[in-house]
Amino acid sequence: MGGGDGTSKGDTVPRFQRIAMLRRSSEILNVGGTVMSAAEPNHAPAPAERPLDFIRQIVADAVAAGQHGGRVQTRFPPEPNGYLHIGHAKSICLNFGIAKEFGGKCNLRFDDTNPTTEETEYVESIQDDVRWLGFQWDGLFYASDYFEQLYLWAEKLIELGLAYVDSQTSEEISQQRGTPQIPGTHSPFRDRSVAENLDLFRRMRKGEFPDGAHVLRAKIDMASPNFLLRDPLLYRIKKAHHHRTGDTWCIYPMYDYAHGQSDSIEQVTHSVCTLEFDAHRPLYDWCIEKLGIFPSRQHEFARLNLTYTVMSKRKLLELVQAKLVSGWDDPRMPTICGLRRRGYTPEAIRAFCGEIGITKYNGLTDMVVLENALRSDLNKKAERRMAVLKPIKVVIENYDADLTEQLDAVNNPEDAEAGTRQVPFSREIYIEQDDFMEEPPKGYFRLSPGKEVRLRWAYFIKCTSVVKDEAGQITEIRATYDPATRGGDSPDGRKVKATIHWVSANHSIPAEVRLYDHLCKIEDLSQVPDGEDWKNQLNPASLTVLSEAQLEPSLSTFADGRPVQFERLGYFVADKDAEPGKLVFNRSVTLKDAWAKAKK
Ligand code: ATP
Ligand code: MG
Repeated sequence: MGGGDGTSKGDTVPRFQRIAMLRRSSEILNVGGTVMSAAEPNHAPAPAERPLDFIRQIVADAVAAGQHGGRVQTRFPPEPNGYLHIGHAKSICLNFGIAKEFGGKCNLRFDDTNPTTEETEYVESIQDDVRWLGFQWDGLFYASDYFEQLYLWAEKLIELGLAYVDSQTSEEISQQRGTPQIPGTHSPFRDRSVAENLDLFRRMRKGEFPDGAHVLRAKIDMASPNFLLRDPLLYRIKKAHHHRTGDTWCIYPMYDYAHGQSDSIEQVTHSVCTLEFDAHRPLYDWCIEKLGIFPSRQHEFARLNLTYTVMSKRKLLELVQAKLVSGWDDPRMPTICGLRRRGYTPEAIRAFCGEIGITKYNGLTDMVVLENALRSDLNKKAERRMAVLKPIKVVIENYDADLTEQLDAVNNPEDAEAGTRQVPFSREIYIEQDDFMEEPPKGYFRLSPGKEVRLRWAYFIKCTSVVKDEAGQITEIRATYDPATRGGDSPDGRKVKATIHWVSANHSIPAEVRLYDHLCKIEDLSQVPDGEDWKNQLNPASLTVLSEAQLEPSLSTFADGRPVQFERLGYFVADKDAEPGKLVFNRSVTLKDAWAKAKK
């Protein structure tokens, strides 16, 4: 489309990636020292052309060295305490991607060791999301399947003199932790006999003690510079109902004890996780080594953080519970189901995960990178249609009131096979209120009194006058059309500077259209000082509902959820909230990055 004022023409999007370092202080991780270039306009090579990332290189080296007979086994290990978000998609693409690329296998394992926060609803949604992203697991497992084995191994650690039952309160235990400079102090129960430890641990299992009465701790080194090795907790008493094991257990293993052993049971060769587990690796290795079980190895990569949103199940749950969003699948949420409802495609999310790559440095990825991945996917796939979001009526005075013409329109200029359709045209049409100005400033080329524009796929029209109500508000625009310009060109070579979209008032269908903006006002939520409610940073303008939109009639066939481009306005998808006679469309993404423009 033409459009001298830059309001049209939006299919090609400059692709760039901006990664700013997160300067988060971290006790256990020395990240943030390296700064990656802030603005890097580039055409990132397709993942296949890139050198292997460091995790894949580790796997490739292991395979080349014939480790485990060249076998590769990974796993994606979500805790079923919430819905998956786009950060998890990065981990899913990595774990399943490695398995596929190296002829290996990838399990889906629910790390369900914390009964109070886990639910079957989450287990199901996680499976749906992984499948929707295009992956199929080889084995489906639960850490809770391993409770008996994990318990027996804990007894073994006791028998080896490597674990003991501590009967102090959690406050006492944490007071003895020490500081980075000062070693911790030994628990008075550290030297209990094996027999006493075994007896107490068995009675813990039987339910003889209340919550908090005892814990099982590994006996490692209270002076270790790594706090996680200062006699970490392995088991705690928790008389809680578990979503799978019910009331069978009242002691539950801690994450650090369960995770490595579960990997080992599944003979996972490469256990990849996010950087914050770096300090946990020595404990992971310690358990495996002392138990003499399959030597799974852990490797850490940088988690995904995205600008203007939150990436933590706990915080997302807060939004859901406080009803600040309509649910886990609110289209503003960075959850997989929210993105799906927003109109994201699995292809776009996978392309995004490939593009951002895998590194060892925690950074902040610009939301624009995700949006661009969707734009490039939908540009190829989405048919074009016309929709007027904020309509104002135009009466074409010299057009026959009884006539309706069917005009040919191209469905997708990027895809010849998408063919053409017919769009009805008649005397009364709607255009966008924004496409008309009674007193236009210099450089405004859309419709105004005495000015001529092209109606997409139709004719040139010229505004002759406006009709106003008593308050002086324009209620209707009057225009004339030039019959010789049918199809959009003038035989006399006359040019117009703008092409605008429209729908025929008598044929259009009403709809509600929902426009979205960033969930948060600030780029980097980690900058919110401790003690301040991060929810104060929510963007109050993240949702705009336009309930008077008018759609080209053929848009009724998009109720099935196929993506569609509303010309000049962005990519859209029908929402499940539709009612008979009222379609609802979500804007998935604009055609261009409006924020980048605004910031310049
Ligand atoms: P959250 O903090 O959002 O609750 P989590 O790490 O507790 O996330 P898990 O269910 O334990 O969530 O995560 C499953 C896997 O996904 C883990 O291996 C974890 O490292 C990975 N993961 C979680 N968040 C991200 C992220 N933002 N980027 C990349 N991987 C992630
Ligand atoms: Mg977790």
